[in-house]
Amino acid sequence: MYTITLIPGDGIGPEVTKAMKKVVKASGVDINWEEVKAGMETIEEYNTPLPDYVIDSIKKNKIAIKGPVTTPVGKGFRSVNVGLRQKLDLYANVRPIKNFKGLKNRYDNVDLVIIRENTEGCYSGIEHKVGDYAGETIKIITRPACERIVDFAVNYVKENNRKKLTGVHKANIMKISDGLFLDIYNKKAEESGLDYDDLIVDAAAMNLVLNPEKYDVMVMPNLYGDILSDLGAGLVGGLGMIPSANIGKDCAVFEAVHGSAPQIAGMNKANPTALIQSAVMMLKYIGEFDAANKIEKALDEIFSEGKILTEDLGGCASTDEFADELCRKIEC
Ligand code: NAD
Repeated sequence: MYTITLIPGDGIGPEVTKAMKKVVKASGVDINWEEVKAGMETIEEYNTPLPDYVIDSIKKNKIAIKGPVTTPVGKGFRSVNVGLRQKLDLYANVRPIKNFKGLKNRYDNVDLVIIRENTEGCYSGIEHKVGDYAGETIKIITRPACERIVDFAVNYVKENNRKKLTGVHKANIMKISDGLFLDIYNKKAEESGLDYDDLIVDAAAMNLVLNPEKYDVMVMPNLYGDILSDLGAGLVGGLGMIPSANIGKDCAVFEAVHGSAPQIAGMNKANPTALIQSAVMMLKYIGEFDAANKIEKALDEIFSEGKILTEDLGGCASTDEFADELCRKIEC
């Protein structure tokens, strides 16, 4: 029996986490979910969206899975997601983007992985106003953070038998910050013996839309990873599909790439695939490969049949109906 921290989140978070829990149970792995609250709902009681008990629970259990948490736009508290990544030093964010055969998409054969530096860059959280005139955000790129994310990406390619590594940057304009990332990337990629290249982020966005099948594993600073992984989601059916893992030296937190989707919250309409695929990543991380494979096989089947799909994929199944059908496929 594993004890794993579960942050249900808000918006569609509780609906997709409920579906995820059902599917993991059907896969046969016994998990004691240690449920903790974070976000808007903890502010009144604890005066913070990220109370210490959340961090303590993850430090104790080493593994967590979370639903999305709303962050006010342009005002209010700091993102719980960014806070978690920084407090637990979850420096690598891994986002696999793959299309399911049988699911009608704009592209076939997309199978790429975005590895995003997760602790600094434009997300340093150092911002101030210059009177009413300007706003300044400090983008920090450090040598140690570049070295460990590039090392992580090189190891990822080798351990997962991937073919190629692409470093994404904007070093033609940000010659010092992205320049440092690119220097470190080039040196380590050359030493690794892997097939590698690099790409300026704007060209990467266009190339991913034109020929996504040409890319394999891509490593990049924080903001570019955030943007390009949403673009990647658009290539394979939308945000309801893409999982992620935030990996640190001591802990790992798994979550969907999508946000709290307030427009469809509470309507039993959300696609839980992204969080279910995040749970698959989590099961592989803890060594439960049989259970992970069962869920992946059931997802393949449900998408090839194309009958029970949520609204974002052109179907009319509810979150619960989708999860129940997945459980049936896993159990039979
Ligand atoms: P969003 O991902 O919530 O929604 C973008 C679009 O995708 C919407 O049309 C939404 O309905 C759709 N969508 C997202 N997930 C879906 C799913 N599982 N099934 C079906 N449709 C889905 O992005 P947003 O609107 O920019 O952000 C809403 C809130 O979420 C913001 O407060 C933002 O800060 C927060 N957010 C949180 C996380 C996180 O917790 N990791 C990530 C991104 C955004």
